[in-house]
Amino acid sequence: MARSDTASGSESPAPTPVNGERNGSKKNKTRNGSKKHARDNETNGSIGPSHPGERRSSVSKPARDFRDMPEAPPPKKKKRKTSTTTTKPDNALVIPTTKDTLPALQPEESTEQVSTRSPSPVIDFDGLSRPSLGTRKRLEEDDAQKEIRLNRIKDAVRTLLECVGEDPDREGLLATPDRYAKAMLYFTKGYQENVRDIVNGAIFQEGHNEMVIVKDIEVFSMCEHHLVPFTGKMHIGYIPSNAVIGISKLPRIAEMFARRLQVQERLTKEVANAVMEVLKPQGVAVVMESSHLCMVMRGVQKTTSTTITSCVIGCFERKEKTRNEFLSLIGVNR
Ligand SMILES: [Zn+2]
Repeated sequence: MARSDTASGSESPAPTPVNGERNGSKKNKTRNGSKKHARDNETNGSIGPSHPGERRSSVSKPARDFRDMPEAPPPKKKKRKTSTTTTKPDNALVIPTTKDTLPALQPEESTEQVSTRSPSPVIDFDGLSRPSLGTRKRLEEDDAQKEIRLNRIKDAVRTLLECVGEDPDREGLLATPDRYAKAMLYFTKGYQENVRDIVNGAIFQEGHNEMVIVKDIEVFSMCEHHLVPFTGKMHIGYIPSNAVIGISKLPRIAEMFARRLQVQERLTKEVANAVMEVLKPQGVAVVMESSHLCMVMRGVQKTTSTTITSCVIGCFERKEKTRNEFLSLIGVNR
């Protein structure tokens, strides 16, 4: 007993008297009770020495998100996407999984609060959904650094030309490294964009609660496995919670994520999560159909095959009827 007491003391401290309103009102940590105060304060001393009364869990759980609290349907633990049209399932499931990969953030709440909503920051408001040193550099570089980047790509392309048996100095290829470098930077310009700038406040409280769909959005992206394009169409639907997003923003969000190195499954999911995150609608559904050049031009060479991915969140995930309405409206459910 003493041992478990210690363990819970370090993980889920009870609200201390000086805690103030926030902690006390939001969560009932009833299981530990007041007998733990002394121990809490001890623990506090070792970790956050300056404020003995401050709830220690705030040190280890900074990202606890208020958006996880309210309208989450509490009873269901795992939502299962049952869309029949997908070749690649589990997009929606990734969301709770992502949450599960952050056990340190919510050790004890995870059983109480289950939300289909993506935990922040799945969506990169600063344009860094898969942050790496390179992404950050690219976002913030000045002109001189840009030049250096361009030259490095050019050198690489020149090497590539040599390696495939070409003469990079023949007339037709002379400017190819430069052209390719610029093209590649364009194909991946999404790394320099971010959701916040794109949405730019274009969210309107319209009291609208019916399904909104933008379909047949042309998408050009780059397969991250082969660095060749995959192209197709994306359909985005959502059911607002009063607020609607400027309709042109949906293709732009799709464009931002498409202009990165991608796999189609993740692209679909990222767009859905982004719309969910910025708009907080009742649900989002994204379906993408596309043709992968890496499949068409090489490998299995199935030139007519289409890959369909989908990601449904919120009410689209919960309600088959809503999902089917969406699918029939975009013409996939035929
Ligand atoms: Zn590929």
